[in-house]
Amino acid sequence: MRPRVAIIAMGGTIAMAPSASGGIIPALGADELVAAVPGLADLGVDLTASTLRSLPSPSLGFDDLTALSHAVREELANGATGVVVTHGTDTIEETALFLDLTIDSPAPVVVTGAMRAPASAGADGPANLYAAIRVALATDARGLGCLVVMSDEVHGARFVRKSHTSSTGAFVSPGFGPLGLIVEGEPRLRGTPRIDLVLPATDKISALRVALVTVTLGDDGELLRRAGDAFDGIVIAGLGAGHVPAGMVPLVAEFAQRVPVVLASRTGSGSVLRATYGYPGSERDLFDRGLIHAGFLDPAKARILLQLLLADGADRDQIGATFELYR
Ligand code: ASP
Repeated sequence: MRPRVAIIAMGGTIAMAPSASGGIIPALGADELVAAVPGLADLGVDLTASTLRSLPSPSLGFDDLTALSHAVREELANGATGVVVTHGTDTIEETALFLDLTIDSPAPVVVTGAMRAPASAGADGPANLYAAIRVALATDARGLGCLVVMSDEVHGARFVRKSHTSSTGAFVSPGFGPLGLIVEGEPRLRGTPRIDLVLPATDKISALRVALVTVTLGDDGELLRRAGDAFDGIVIAGLGAGHVPAGMVPLVAEFAQRVPVVLASRTGSGSVLRATYGYPGSERDLFDRGLIHAGFLDPAKARILLQLLLADGADRDQIGATFELYR
């Protein structure tokens, strides 16, 4: 039997075309994206294409991600060898981690997009979609969790970040590097397996709110104070290795008594520390006051994990223990 790759389109620049009022907007469906990729007929693979959303990725929400997770699982249950999701690049890393955490299958699930729209000179969408399909077919990609394929590089969901506003080389996995490369069209994977954690993607997740608060020099915490009790959990994108100004500590500690507060770093690379600094507002001080360690997860990814855990009814200790898996 021929392998089958299911392509699910969500929108994004890869599917955009000029609008009458100026600028590009989502316009193309999954069929049109597939039709624009040369060389697919030679792969000996069946491709099925469906358009689930046609949105710029800043406008996707947890209900869309839940629907996507269901759609991917359905394709795999119906015998797809792998699934490719085409998606806007602005939030691709959050969607990738959401899929990584909610799909219980070793089959490759690959998310891709484009930095240049189809009508631009040097559009990268077709090459990225071709590479993503090749990875979705690769036996070596099984068990690696959700992957992001851009610019002939294969990134793991828990590592990948968009690191540039416009470059076609915008995607990196800081500190770890890509899990593999595409060489002459062929995936060469050296990846580490995904962390063995599967959480349910339920409708409950959309009803929850997790705030992401980035700490800045001279921050007195007013933004956090005004959050009041509007949030079910908070991720703090702390300074450096996980620090806040001394003046913010009482407020952060008070929040940590009420809701889970996860401490990540705004630096964009590396793990939050645990035991190095001892001043008020240091990581040691904040963990003593009940904050939860984000490990290597960056703030946006820590928010996805926290939101899924809260939707699953996890208590503070379970949340802390789960984040420990990402050390
Ligand atoms: N703003 C676009 C989006 O995320 C960017 C892209 O797709 O590259 O939908």
